[in-house]
Amino acid sequence: MNRPDRRTFAIISHPDAGKTTLTEKLLLFGGAIHLAGEVKARGANRRARSDWMKIEQQRGISVTSSVMTFEREGITFNLLDTPGHEDFSEDTYRTLTAVDSAVMVIDAAKGIEAQTRKLFEVCRLRSVPIITFVNKVDREGRDAFALLDEIADMLALDVTPMSWPVGMGGLFEGIYDLNANRLMQPSGDSRAFEGKTASFSGLDDPKLADALSAQGLERLREEAELAVGGYGEFDPEAYRHGDLTPVYFGSALKEFGVGELIDALARFAPPPRPQPAEPAPVSPDHAGVTGFVFKVQANMDPQHRDRIAFMRLCSGKFRRGMKLTPSGSGKPIAVHSPIMFFAQDRELAEEAWPGDIIGIPNHGTLRVGDTLTEGEGIRFTGLPNFAPEILRRVALVDPTKTKQLRKALDDLSEEGVIQVFYPEIGSNWVVGVVGQLQLEVLLSRLEAEYKVAARLEPSPWDTARWIAGDDAAIKAFASINSSQLSRDRDGALVFMAKSAWEVGYVQERNPDIRFSATKER
Ligand code: GDP
Repeated sequence: MNRPDRRTFAIISHPDAGKTTLTEKLLLFGGAIHLAGEVKARGANRRARSDWMKIEQQRGISVTSSVMTFEREGITFNLLDTPGHEDFSEDTYRTLTAVDSAVMVIDAAKGIEAQTRKLFEVCRLRSVPIITFVNKVDREGRDAFALLDEIADMLALDVTPMSWPVGMGGLFEGIYDLNANRLMQPSGDSRAFEGKTASFSGLDDPKLADALSAQGLERLREEAELAVGGYGEFDPEAYRHGDLTPVYFGSALKEFGVGELIDALARFAPPPRPQPAEPAPVSPDHAGVTGFVFKVQANMDPQHRDRIAFMRLCSGKFRRGMKLTPSGSGKPIAVHSPIMFFAQDRELAEEAWPGDIIGIPNHGTLRVGDTLTEGEGIRFTGLPNFAPEILRRVALVDPTKTKQLRKALDDLSEEGVIQVFYPEIGSNWVVGVVGQLQLEVLLSRLEAEYKVAARLEPSPWDTARWIAGDDAAIKAFASINSSQLSRDRDGALVFMAKSAWEVGYVQERNPDIRFSATKER
C-alpha cells in the first residue's frame, strides 16, 4: 500500500527549556498557525473551559496534552504534546507510547535536567530515536563541548553535532551547518530571524572571513574541527535504534535552527514503526485498520460536554464512518465524526493513515488502552496502568450524592486522571494516583463538572496490586482476603495492601496468584 509520509513525534524537556516556544515555531514554520503565541493563548475561549484548567494556569503547567498536526514539503508531522509536570508522568508515559520519535530540548545554560532525564529513560525503554535541540544559544550558555559530553555521559548515548554555534549570548554570530557547510546568520537586530543563509565550500573557505568577525571565524574553525574529529559521524541506523542522537543548536525564540530541526525530522526520523501487540507486532503495512487509545480527554469544547478518545492509527487506511471494534466493550462503533487537530483548530478527518492521531468523540465507551480494529483479534500491548503511590478514601460532604460521585469516579478513571477501587465489602471508595497534583485536579473537577463536594481522607491502604490466577486459586484467595479486595473500574480484582512489605508477605504465601503493579490492557 502506498502510504503518505508521516512523522509522529513528541518533545521531551524539563520545564522552561523552551518546549512551548519551540512548538509554536514548528507550527509557524509548518504553516499551521499564522501567529506564534497561540499555543499558550489566554483567550476568553480558553478561560471558559472548566475550572480545573485554572490549576493549570495558576501553576503555569500544562495539564492537558494535545495533538498538533502540520505539513511541510509533502510530509505530515503529528506533534504530541507531553505534559511537562512530573505529577503527570502516567499521562506522559502513555503519550510516549504513541510516538515514533522524540525531540529532546535542552537549555544551553542548564544542560540535562531532572525531567529531561526521566522522559529520556521512558524513550529508551522503547528505543525511541531522539534528535537533540540545544536551545537558547542567543543567551550565554555553557560551552558546547561540555554540553555534548554531558549528554553522552549522563544518557549513555553517542552524540554527533550536526551544527555548531559561532559564539553564544553576546558573542553569537550564527550557526554553522557542519554537513551542508552553510552559515545561518541573523540579520537586522535579530529580534525576529529574517536570517541570511550562505553556502561555503568548507570551513577553510576564505569567503567565511567576510561573514564573520576575525575572532568568530578563528573560534569556529578551531571548535568545528575538534567537534568533527572528536565525535563520530552521524549514523542514521544507530540513531534509529536509539543509540545515537544528532545534536542541533538553535534558539526557538529567535527562530534559529528551527527549519533545520524540521528538515532533520523529515530526513532522519522514522516513519510509523511496527507497534508491539498480541499475538504479533502490527506493521503499518498491515491491511486492516488498527489503532489504540492512549488518552481520553474531557471538555475539549466548553459548548459540548464531550469526551475525546485519542487514537493512534497503527495500520490500514481509516475512512470516516467506518466501523471499529474496541477491545474493551467488544461492540462495534461507527466512527462518524473523527477529528484531526491542526494547532488550535479541529477538523473532520475524511481519512487517516498509520501514524495519524484521530480524536473520537464518545460518551465513555472508549478507554485508555483500548485496541480498535475492524474485528481482528489483535491487542496492542505496552500501555501500562501504574500502581498508585498515593491512596485516599473519598468522603462525600453531601451523602445524597452517591450516584453522582460514582459516575464521576468512573468517568475520571476512564480518562486516566485517577484510578478508582471499589471494595468488595463496605462502601469506602478509594482513589489512587501517582502524583499529588492529580488529587487537586480530582477535587476541582468533581466540584466544577459533577457538582459533588468531596473530601479526601487517609486510606487504610498504602498500595494496590492487580491479581490474576486460575479460578479456583482466586476463589480460595478471595475467601480468606475478602476484606482487602477491591475492583477497579473494569471489574478487575485488586488486592489492597497496608504496605509493600505486606504485598511481599502475602505473595509468598500465595504462589498460585500473580500480583502485578501495573495492569496492561
Ligand atoms: P517550556 O516550559 O519548556 O514550555 O518553556 P517556554 O517555551 O515557556 O519557555 C520558557 C522561557 O524561556 C520563556 O520565557 C521563553 O520566552 C524563553 N525562551 C524559550 N526559548 C528561548 C530562546 O531560544 N532564547 C531565549 N533567550 N529565551 C527563550
